[in-house]
Amino acid sequence: MPVEKDTAFFSVSGLAKHFGGIHAVEGLSFALARGEIVGLIGPNGSGKTTTINMVTGALKPDGGAILVEGIDMARSPANLFARRGVARTFQVPRLFRRMTVLENLIVPALSDPAERRAGAEERARGVLAFLRLDHLADSYARALSGGQQKLLELGRALMLKPRLLLLDEPFAGVHPRLLEEIIEHIRSLNRDGHTIVVVDHNLEAIQSVVTRVMVMARGRKIADGAVAEVLRNPEVVHAYTGSRATHREAR
Ligand code: ADP
Ligand code: MG
Repeated sequence: MPVEKDTAFFSVSGLAKHFGGIHAVEGLSFALARGEIVGLIGPNGSGKTTTINMVTGALKPDGGAILVEGIDMARSPANLFARRGVARTFQVPRLFRRMTVLENLIVPALSDPAERRAGAEERARGVLAFLRLDHLADSYARALSGGQQKLLELGRALMLKPRLLLLDEPFAGVHPRLLEEIIEHIRSLNRDGHTIVVVDHNLEAIQSVVTRVMVMARGRKIADGAVAEVLRNPEVVHAYTGSRATHREAR
């Protein structure tokens, strides 16, 4: 699909990352329109997290371009991505377990030298209210349930005032009741104009928030389009069943 570099809000082209002999990501290209919400799926090890790492500046690509409003940021450090409004959550929440929920939100915001503590705290309380975690403001992060930790992880990303939000497995290991809540938060953030990429294995949950989905297998994008169509794509079906067969062989 041709990428219109001047009009796309965010795009990558020819993105590549190799770890020794492993082609974790190879020739990856896609574009996101402003305000779009897209799923990114694929078997374990297909390169989804490596992609998120690269497009947030956590990992330098070996090749390719990352265009944020037309400016190539492939060589930029992570703090510059954050400043341009690109934020992510981690597959395994990266919380300060011995700090309170409120402190966990304030700390990332203070990496911006322009942010004052009082302002950060006010915004943190707003984020907690949005996530319906206000009653836990003074609890230690380590005391939260798995799902609540996922919510706090999302809150930490929101403190960076992102325009593009990349969520790495936000539904994994979350209790069904909280799952519904996380889905609703993602929908609401998208309605408010956030551009969002959701990586997860829970296809039902993914389908309830996106209409477009991209599929990766062995580092490459093998499909990109309307969910129902993509999930019928024989190459996609094969990537999933093929990977399950490999897991069985490995046991
Ligand atoms: P996914 O998120 O889709 O499960 P990853 O992006 O985590 O996949 O991994 C893609 C491939 O790159 C896998 O083969 C993984 O083992 C490898 N990989 C990821 N990170 C590293 C790393 N830091 N060092 C070496 N290999 C890595
Ligand atoms: Mg991953």
